[in-house]
Amino acid sequence: MSQAAEAAAAKVSAADGSLLEVDDLISHYPVPRGLLGAMMRRPRLTVKAVDGVTFSVAAGEMVALVGESGCGKTTTAQTVIRMVANQGGSIRFDGAEIGELSPGQLRPLRREIQIIYQDPYESLDPRFTVRDTIEEPIRVHSLVPRKEDREAKVYEAMERAGLTPPELFIDRYPHELSGGQRQRVAIAAALVLEPKLLIADEPVSMLDVSVRAGILALLDGLRREGMGVLMITHDLSTAAHFADRIAVMYLGRIVEEGPARDVVRNPQHPYTKALISVVPRRDPDQRAFPQILTGETPNPVRVPPGCRFHPRCPVAEERCKETDPELRALDGVAVGHRAACILLGPPSGP
Ligand code: SF4
Repeated sequence: MSQAAEAAAAKVSAADGSLLEVDDLISHYPVPRGLLGAMMRRPRLTVKAVDGVTFSVAAGEMVALVGESGCGKTTTAQTVIRMVANQGGSIRFDGAEIGELSPGQLRPLRREIQIIYQDPYESLDPRFTVRDTIEEPIRVHSLVPRKEDREAKVYEAMERAGLTPPELFIDRYPHELSGGQRQRVAIAAALVLEPKLLIADEPVSMLDVSVRAGILALLDGLRREGMGVLMITHDLSTAAHFADRIAVMYLGRIVEEGPARDVVRNPQHPYTKALISVVPRRDPDQRAFPQILTGETPNPVRVPPGCRFHPRCPVAEERCKETDPELRALDGVAVGHRAACILLGPPSGP
């Protein structure tokens, strides 16, 4: 498929059912210089946290944004929900542009896009019982006036989040719950608003391995019920197992994206290949040699010119220092699988 045809197809699919469409999103912010830096007239530095990111999430789809710490995936999520300002690009939710709405105009939308964080210990108020925590969003949005109806909503959300029987948990405080139960409370507090899109920022990274699968299965179930899920994770194996599509981020950009299975089994970008090479395999016949990336770790204040991955890329060429590759369709991969590398040619044929 030509690039123009692919772009047209992407637009059609978005018009047909994308819940969230993010296009060329940019979020930069200045690094404080401090008094000394200002007195010494040190140059102002800018963190290019999100630097031209495009992706979409459909209803009933789980998309995983994968990358190392500092690659910009969490800032991307925060920009999508307008916690962080964007300096460019567009954010369309349910067919409407939300990138330039005022806080007042955004208020009703906040019900429809909910976010859960990696640390359930931090995200719950220790003075609130489970009931208070889950009821609070309904009160804030003035949704259900009658107390009995609110209680019913709280019970329903708890059951959907796997806190069953609700009577066992509803009067407990966060310190009386396990890590997995706390994360379920956070999820129930999101579900009580019946959102269309759930953003899960490293939802299991702070949890014991034994309870991770349960939380991930819960998110998977919500996706199957029709909710869009954007999962932020550094764990490619989790993404491969649960997501429909994977977008791999490096220094503020998506460098590869496509159907999860194809990205993992047939990675194209050297960065994705390196990430996959260090994922443990169960089958000894499938073992790959771990490829340890060398060079400077990513610094979004000093983004290298040309291909931003070139200082660490094991197959970089001289021209990589000058050419900034775009995401494009490739030969020999599944439909919708794209990567940004000048060594990867466009698809042949018409
Ligand atoms: Fe590596 Fe060059 Fe491809 Fe960038 S463009 S990923 S540096 S080969």
